Amino acid sequence: MANRPNILFIMSDDHASQAISSYSGRINQTPNIDRIAQEGARFDDCFCTNSICTPSRAVILTGKYSHLNGVKTLVDDFDGRQPHVAKMLQQGGYQTSMIGKWHLGHGGNSDPTGFDYWCVLPGQGLYHNPTFYDMGKEITVKGYATDIITDMSLDWLEKRDKDRPFFLMCHHKAPHRPWEPSEKHKDLYEDINIPEPDTLFDTYETRSDAARLAEMRISRHLRKKDVKQDPPDHLEGNDLTRWYYQRYIKDYLRCIASIDDNVGRLLDYLDEQGIADNTLVIYTSDQGFFLGEHGWYDKRFMYEESLRMPFLVRYPKEIKAGTINKDMIVNTDFAPTFLDYAGLTIPADMQGCSLRPVFQGRLVEGWRQSMYYRYWMDRDDHCVAAHYGIRTHQYKLICYYAPGRFYNGKYPEGTERTEWPQWELYDLQKDQYELNNVYGDPDYASTLAELKTALHQLQMELKDTIQTSES
Ligand code: CA
Repeated sequence: MANRPNILFIMSDDHASQAISSYSGRINQTPNIDRIAQEGARFDDCFCTNSICTPSRAVILTGKYSHLNGVKTLVDDFDGRQPHVAKMLQQGGYQTSMIGKWHLGHGGNSDPTGFDYWCVLPGQGLYHNPTFYDMGKEITVKGYATDIITDMSLDWLEKRDKDRPFFLMCHHKAPHRPWEPSEKHKDLYEDINIPEPDTLFDTYETRSDAARLAEMRISRHLRKKDVKQDPPDHLEGNDLTRWYYQRYIKDYLRCIASIDDNVGRLLDYLDEQGIADNTLVIYTSDQGFFLGEHGWYDKRFMYEESLRMPFLVRYPKEIKAGTINKDMIVNTDFAPTFLDYAGLTIPADMQGCSLRPVFQGRLVEGWRQSMYYRYWMDRDDHCVAAHYGIRTHQYKLICYYAPGRFYNGKYPEGTERTEWPQWELYDLQKDQYELNNVYGDPDYASTLAELKTALHQLQMELKDTIQTSES
């Protein structure tokens, strides 16, 4: 058990890979986050199994899908009495710490367990002068959340027992709504226009009602509190949408600039301590996000921008610098990976696989060629229909089995279809933006049949249930 690596897990909230220059370079620069990939690996097909904040965090801790860890929606609290990776690492001799955004509930059985030290934001937390629960005690700290969470992480690292490995979860609130930048970055991008995505003016033709009914349109659902001012009176139509997009994306990217600076501080600290070589560093986000694609902000959908998690990893002993990996990995894999590096047993009921051989660049026989996704409806937010689906390297099949909040049939005017389920099928090789639903296209009949069988097979393997309404 000697020389077990430290694990530094840095996770932000709603940071889409399109806003990391290592992935895209189109709309911003993130030199410090990119450094992890340059000195390690970038994963292009890391997917979230349920694209929303609280559930993704529970999946990461337990290595199990939402239907087994009990956190299906934003309003389900995590039951910390269940086994999870922090407890196992703690019992296995690691020093463990959770600093920043927890978002898995408070009090009762929902406070962090398995951590020697924890200091977490209540709920969503604030960007400026935030309150924290420091081992349960309420404290307020002056400053900007991203800086403070990093300060606390550095303090904890400084005080650690240097003879034992550590596991630190450093979880930023940023760049989650309401997108409030720090003083340092508030004027960044002031005089430039951020490029627009190709699908900003999507009209949702060929898609299911789910896309049309979703309430996350930049043109329609952003509010004054989101963009901090009223639009100029003379703007209308697409020009008004463009104005909203610029206001939204600039504040979002300013929040990310602060994360990037602070990732740099943590990496510098590892260098100064001489422990960079023996520390597994991961940067990810709890899910992806729409940055104007399909005319949207927010997440929840199984579409690419929301499904994909950024995932950058560095561990010089085993990962070749500059690796770009296209293996399909999911967030149930994270916990087994940490246990593997810690030399601990991976429980049989964890549903992911250790990524260690994948990191090492080995061809792993039987590695997954498809992944299962499920978004469980919650309250009324953004009105996204409940759905599940399967993604392979080439195709994506989605079944929307229950309507967003329109249970009672009161659909918005102009929406005629009221029958669920509704299906979508995309050929990602020909249609990377998912604009052309080919469900029902005879050319794809055999593909569709195979995907439906594979979807139900995955549901069975993962112990989820098919909705009776699907048929
Ligand atoms: Ca999130």
